Amino acid sequence: MNSITKLTGRVIFKGDPGYEVARKNWDPHTDRFPKVFVFAQRTKDVANAIRWARINNVPIRPRSGRHSLEPNLSQVNGGIVIDVSEMKQIKLNKKSRTVEVGTGNRVGRIVDTLARQGFIAPFGDSPTVGIGGITLGGGIGPLQRTTGLISDNLIELEMVDAKGRVIRANKNRNSDLLWASRGGGGGNFGVYTKYKFKVLRAPAKATVFSITWPWEQFEKVVKKWQKWAPNASTKLGSELSVGPKKGGNVSMLGLYLGSKTEALRQLEPILSVGTPTKKDIRLLPYIEATKFLLAPDPVLTQKFSNQFSSGFGRRPFPNKAFKIMREFLEKAEEGTPAGFYFLNWGGAIKRIAPKATAFYWRKAQFYIEWNSSWVKPSHAAKNIALTRNTRKKLNPFIVGSYINVPDQGIKCSGPVYYGKNYPRLRRVKAKYDPNNVFNNPQSIPPA
Ligand SMILES: Cc1cc2nc3c(=O)[nH]c(=O)nc-3n(C[C@H](O)[C@H](O)[C@H](O)COP(=O)(O)OP(=O)(O)OC[C@H]3O[C@@H](n4cnc5c(N)ncnc54)[C@H](O)[C@@H]3O)c2cc1C
Repeated sequence: MNSITKLTGRVIFKGDPGYEVARKNWDPHTDRFPKVFVFAQRTKDVANAIRWARINNVPIRPRSGRHSLEPNLSQVNGGIVIDVSEMKQIKLNKKSRTVEVGTGNRVGRIVDTLARQGFIAPFGDSPTVGIGGITLGGGIGPLQRTTGLISDNLIELEMVDAKGRVIRANKNRNSDLLWASRGGGGGNFGVYTKYKFKVLRAPAKATVFSITWPWEQFEKVVKKWQKWAPNASTKLGSELSVGPKKGGNVSMLGLYLGSKTEALRQLEPILSVGTPTKKDIRLLPYIEATKFLLAPDPVLTQKFSNQFSSGFGRRPFPNKAFKIMREFLEKAEEGTPAGFYFLNWGGAIKRIAPKATAFYWRKAQFYIEWNSSWVKPSHAAKNIALTRNTRKKLNPFIVGSYINVPDQGIKCSGPVYYGKNYPRLRRVKAKYDPNNVFNNPQSIPPA
């Protein structure tokens, strides 16, 4: 093997110390037995790993934050995992209002670093999700109606392609790759090493809220929420969760970028539904508000496995859809994080045209996902079937699906994830990875 094909960086082969820790993803049911992990320290290590994999004919999986929600995305048996999680630089340029980050950063670290310096980095519901993966699929969360998706703020990137070449993309150079990287999903075009985002000034303070209702009131609350949340001020982001019938409740978490008085006025219609058992509404310094919403979520101690599925609602659900939700929640396992999750759409997301970036589903009223969860491997099959059968039943009431919350039960998934952007994504794929070196069970085939 010559010097070009040597693996560099922190390299862990099967059987080496550290292998077991290296193969622990957030969701245990996505753990696999790869041949080798390369923890890249710099872009060159990524290039060497890709060349090595090509010469040795080993399948490649890029990995950043280990949060993939389906198997064979960021690990594969016998493959090489090119893990960028030790590439964690964060360089904020206050003057140009941009930040350059290594793709190995976790979302929470970027949010925290920027908040301390008075800037907003958009986030979802977990601080440990990798910026590497979340950006490529879109990046949704409670700030999106103000900031747009995480990927809407991506203005430049560095990626290593299938030949080990370093490619840079921005609006003037390889702009088709930038377009495809804003929602086209991870693992399709190459291994990304750097992102540059534009950033907004953070407000000094924000109002956060956490409201809980008894499970029995879920229908009332979700009905009202589906009418209220998409039409509330775009300064308000709301995540609504409904847990399993056994042991679960209804909870709403979110923020309003403004005073508590204004927030209360905005929240009034939903607070007057049912009988909330907890109402925590507080004005906090912006950095504290981000901590309130991003509860710790460590990767290595996660015990639940999950089957997720996702989609977008264009109008409030009819009673039939609530019946399907109820059946699902009655079957979901007690004491697990199973259930439904909704996020309000609109604002900055809707102002961008569906074809302007690879992220297509911009005209919806709300995002919806649901997951069944289990601990014992023998419970996997029935839970996977529960989520996927529920998708079939809910299909008349939703459109599309979110590539970052994928469901490998979806057949001919391209148009479901990407709508009318799918043909263009296949052309970009043909240009940057014509031999389909970067592939996974639902990746984009070259045109
Ligand atoms: C607890 C939890 C909470 C979540 N909350 C949200 C949320 O609020 N909002 C939201 O939008 N999503 C959320 N997600 C979904 C999340 O965005 C996706 O799972 C995302 O793909 C994870 O990225 P990662 O880098 O952590 O994962 P990984 O497992 O490392 O990678 C996921 C995918 O991206 C690819 N990938 C990763 N890094 C690179 C890279 N450098 N170059 C090329 N491809 C790469 C992988 O090959 C794989 O296909 C959540 C997931 C979990 C588990």
